[in-house]
Amino acid sequence: MKDYFDKLPQELQDLIKLASDIAGRSGMPAYLVGGFVRDLILGVRNLDLDIVVEGDAIKFASDFASCLKAKFITHRRFGTATVFINHGLKIDFATARKETYPYPASLPQVTFGSLRDDLVRRDFTINAMAASLNQGEFGKIIDLFNGREDLRNKLIRVLHDLSFIDDPTRLLRAVRFEQRYDFKIEPRTLKYLKEASRLKMLHKVHPQRVRDELILILQESSPLKPVKRLCALCGLSFIDTEMSFTKKTNAFLKAVQAQIAWFGKTHISRRKLDAWVMYFMALIEQLNISRVRRLCRQFVFRKGEEKRFLDYKKIKRSLVLQLSRSHIKPSRLFWLLEPLSYEVILLLRAKYKDKALHRNIADFLRMYNGMRIDTTGEHLRQFGLTPGPLYQRILRRVLNAKLNGLVRTKEEELSLVKRILKIK
Ligand code: ATP
Repeated sequence: MKDYFDKLPQELQDLIKLASDIAGRSGMPAYLVGGFVRDLILGVRNLDLDIVVEGDAIKFASDFASCLKAKFITHRRFGTATVFINHGLKIDFATARKETYPYPASLPQVTFGSLRDDLVRRDFTINAMAASLNQGEFGKIIDLFNGREDLRNKLIRVLHDLSFIDDPTRLLRAVRFEQRYDFKIEPRTLKYLKEASRLKMLHKVHPQRVRDELILILQESSPLKPVKRLCALCGLSFIDTEMSFTKKTNAFLKAVQAQIAWFGKTHISRRKLDAWVMYFMALIEQLNISRVRRLCRQFVFRKGEEKRFLDYKKIKRSLVLQLSRSHIKPSRLFWLLEPLSYEVILLLRAKYKDKALHRNIADFLRMYNGMRIDTTGEHLRQFGLTPGPLYQRILRRVLNAKLNGLVRTKEEELSLVKRILKIK
């Protein structure tokens, strides 16, 4: 079984070997678990390693980090630690734990336990396998629930009948893995899932847990498939009772996807988009602004996310009309779009088919976005101006002149300032 490790990049093999050495030295058995093992068997690249330790995971992680001189953080209350290697590679260490659910959809009660306890609490058979790091069985796959067979047969299967009742966020996870790997939810699991959906179990979970799993779906490389499947199986009323998935929603999501692809191809050097934010906005298109506000409070979205949702909702018809003009001054275009985030701007492009609007937004992103001038307040002070609101007005006039191609160099900017101030 060691063959699985042999196929990994050397850097990962070295890290696994180091964890194995520490397990041997410390007498604390350790195992790779969860998604990493699933992807290891599937041959899918995965840089998130999860290691379960039968013992003190924080001590284990601290030894591991100090061997590598790597940064690590701990969560003492949960007995977990994360070691950050480089280029996105991180390793989570956790003490093996046992979970019980005091009532449906509650947060589980956690106690420390064995590897077996840790695997039994997991969502699906394909995520409930471990690979031993211990001497004598290094690389052995521990597969208590026939996860490997389900991987071969491309099936998502829960470990027990009440899995979705205990933790309804698993409904979202089932759909995500099914669609990501092109698997099928196994018939009995599908029956349990539908029962849990009928019982509206997703309405009963803590909204932040639903939000996190929903975001994971929207962050998949092709989120349309899982979104559609989720809507077919559970609807969207667990997000807001007024939400539904219509032909329009589908078309909008597709248009959003096309805009994300366009931006990725055309504007490579820009900051990476929060694509999930755009997909989410397309999903909540039917909701009015007060419902969106309520949703943000209920699901506790971050300030920056809430701002983008609301900015989009506040867009006025007049802005769209101006953007749809075939001739618009660059400075006008700039002040209309510069205050908005890329996500909101691209949503406009996804929503409206008008050719001029598409071209104007493309022009803005290509030529004007982020434009700066060389003139500063210091220059104005040197011209004898006392600081005040006039500064902003003059700097804005210079920027407008630059946007409209009337000045190009710093010298041209400064001679414009002189003309404005009537300085010879
Ligand atoms: P991904 O490739 O999307 O990161 P993953 O399987 O690594 O997939 P995580 O959300 O990081 O997903 O979870 C890690 C592991 O923790 C899972 O493989 C699964 O074993 C377990 N797990 C996560 N969420 C749950 C849950 N709600 N119920 C039970 N087990 C879970």
